[in-house]
Amino acid sequence: MELFELTKALMDIPSVSGEEEAVGFFLRDHLTELGWTVELQPVSENQNNVIATLNDNPRVWLSTHMDTVPPFIPPTEDDEKIYGRGACDAKGIIAAQITAAERLRSEGIEDIGLLYTVEEERASTGAKAVNGHPLAAKCEYMINGEPTDNDLAIGSKGSFRLLIKTSGKAAHSAYPEEGDSAIETLLDILDDIRRTHFPHDDFFGETTVNIGTIDGGLALNVIPPRAEAGLLIRLTTKREPIEQALQSVIRGRGDIEVLSCSEPVKLHPVEGFTQKVVRFTTDIPHMPNWGKPLLLGPGSILVAHTKDEFVLKADLEKAAELYSQLVKELLARPPV
Ligand SMILES: [Zn+2]
Repeated sequence: MELFELTKALMDIPSVSGEEEAVGFFLRDHLTELGWTVELQPVSENQNNVIATLNDNPRVWLSTHMDTVPPFIPPTEDDEKIYGRGACDAKGIIAAQITAAERLRSEGIEDIGLLYTVEEERASTGAKAVNGHPLAAKCEYMINGEPTDNDLAIGSKGSFRLLIKTSGKAAHSAYPEEGDSAIETLLDILDDIRRTHFPHDDFFGETTVNIGTIDGGLALNVIPPRAEAGLLIRLTTKREPIEQALQSVIRGRGDIEVLSCSEPVKLHPVEGFTQKVVRFTTDIPHMPNWGKPLLLGPGSILVAHTKDEFVLKADLEKAAELYSQLVKELLARPPV
C-alpha cells in the first residue's frame, strides 16, 4: 500500500486513547503480510503495543503512537493535503515510517524495528509497558515520531500535571461571615501563580503554566466548601524546584495532588538536519531503556489536536525520505 493510501487506511480506523485494539490488529496484519515478525504486547485487556522486526536484534527503531485525541474525524483529501484525526498526530507518521522501512528493506537494510504504542495522549502507559521489553537492550537509537515540521528536535519540554485543591466551610450565602469560601481561596492562589516567574532554562526556554480546568462549589446560594484547579506546567527544569515554588506560593492555603510528570529531555542531535527544541512532551521520557532518543515527524503540532488537523502530502513524502536517511546514518556508525 502506498504512503497516502496507508495514511488514510490508518485514519479510517477510530483509535481514541483506550480504543486502539482495532488499529493494532490492522498494523499486525499489514506488517505480517509484508513479511515482518510482529508481536502484540498486551498493555490492558483491549490495548496492545505493536512491535515489528526483520531480524533478532535491531539496532535502530522507528516509533510513534497509535492513539489519537477525541473526537474521531474521518479522513478527506485534496491534491495537497490529507485532513482528519491522526493526519499528522500520528497516523501519517506511522505510514511514513513503514514506507521508509520498506524502502530500506528493498535496499537490503534489515537492522530496523517498528514500535507503535497505545495511550501516548493520556498517560503513556504503552511506552511504560514496553520500556522493560527485552528488545530494548539491543536498541541503540530510537527515532520517535511526532509533528515537528520535519525538523529534528534536539530537546522536548517536560509536562507536569497537577491539581490544586482548596477547602472551606459551607454556609448560607446570605451570611457569608458564617462560612469560608474555597473558591475565593483558590482564586487568590491562582492569581499568585499567574504573577509568579518560574525558572527559565537557556536550552529549553520558558516554563509555562496553563490553568486548564477549574471546578468547585455547590450552588449559587451556598458558600463553597471546596474547589480545585487543574494545571499543566511545561517544564524546562526538573520537577522539584517547580513544586517547591508552587508550595511557597500556596503557603498552606491549599493542597497539591500530582497527576503525572515527565521531565524535559535532551534528544540526540544529528548533523545536517534542521534542529529545534519542541515545547510538547512525547513517549520518550517513559522509555529510557530504548537507546538514544531522536524526534522527527511531518506536520505541525499547531494543528494536531484541533478539528482542522491535516498533513501536507509533500511533507509525508519528505518524512519518509528523512526517516530512511536518518536510519542509514545511524546504522553507519560503529555499534554503541
Ligand atoms: Zn502525538
